[in-house]
Amino acid sequence: MNVPLNADLHCHSVVSDGTLTPEQLAARAKSNGVQLWALTDHDEISGQSRAAAAASAIGLDYLTGVEISTTFLHQTVHIVGLGFGLGYEPLWHGLQQTRGGRALRAQQMADDLARIGISGCFEGALKYAGNRDLISRTHFARFMVESGVCKDTYEVFRKYLTEGKPGYVEHRWATLKEAVTWITDAGGMAVIAHPARYKFTANEEFALFTEFKGYGGQGVEVVTGSHSASECIAYADTALEFGLAASRGSDFHSPDESRTDLGALPDLPPQLTPVWALLQDRVLRATVP
Ligand code: AMP
Ligand code: MN
Ligand code: MN
Ligand code: MN
Repeated sequence: MNVPLNADLHCHSVVSDGTLTPEQLAARAKSNGVQLWALTDHDEISGQSRAAAAASAIGLDYLTGVEISTTFLHQTVHIVGLGFGLGYEPLWHGLQQTRGGRALRAQQMADDLARIGISGCFEGALKYAGNRDLISRTHFARFMVESGVCKDTYEVFRKYLTEGKPGYVEHRWATLKEAVTWITDAGGMAVIAHPARYKFTANEEFALFTEFKGYGGQGVEVVTGSHSASECIAYADTALEFGLAASRGSDFHSPDESRTDLGALPDLPPQLTPVWALLQDRVLRATVP
């Protein structure tokens, strides 16, 4: 039986595809009642020192975080890393390598959209990318809303940018083994992000969880802004079946876009071991109460 804690261990800042700064996110998390926070930008940890300092200054406990893009059985699988040390060079190098192909991919996405008459997307997306190294589909989506192609970003991802739709470009990210190894060798815990979002068959999903554990992965997101109540229950069972700790995170990106705000999540089911129970010595304790 775990003791409920308002932990939010998944969100994004302007360092990747969020719209708030690490400092603004820390303040929002605190005022929403979050007790333990992690910023998990896509493929980038350059916002970590700012996030940790901002959290400390307002009395919010912090775990370092990242969300690494991997390719597993031709699908993109996101692996969250929590509680790693910031001084491990192979993690920085691996993330830089993972980000490497984004500019070319973005150009190819823009070319594909231009073929159906939607022009200017590369420059448009770039305008939204706070980090030039990290142009993502979210930045395309924002530009396509701004320019009137769609009414909101949800419509963009329904009609464009996803598999089989205009503007989708298949991409090879890091391998599952690489992502889990970088995180664990840096002293952190690897966690499978929002497992219900992937379109694997039962056998493929079994392979994902089995290989992930084999490489040293220890956690899975059970309560996330991307899961329905029934998906939470299903992945609580998966966590128990595979002996994985459970994580909780909103995946908050923006006040204007995200349906789940920081900290606004159900508690973890009581029978699960929370990831924070295994990461006690990795928590950066706030200096101000
Ligand atoms: P990228 O890393 O460039 O492939 O962009 C993926 C990001 O797009 C995700 O992290 C989400 O922020 C955003 N996104 C929102 N809705 C969807 C969706 N239906 N499919 C994929 N990505 C989505
Ligand atoms: Mn994102
Ligand atoms: Mn994700
Ligand atoms: Mn995310």
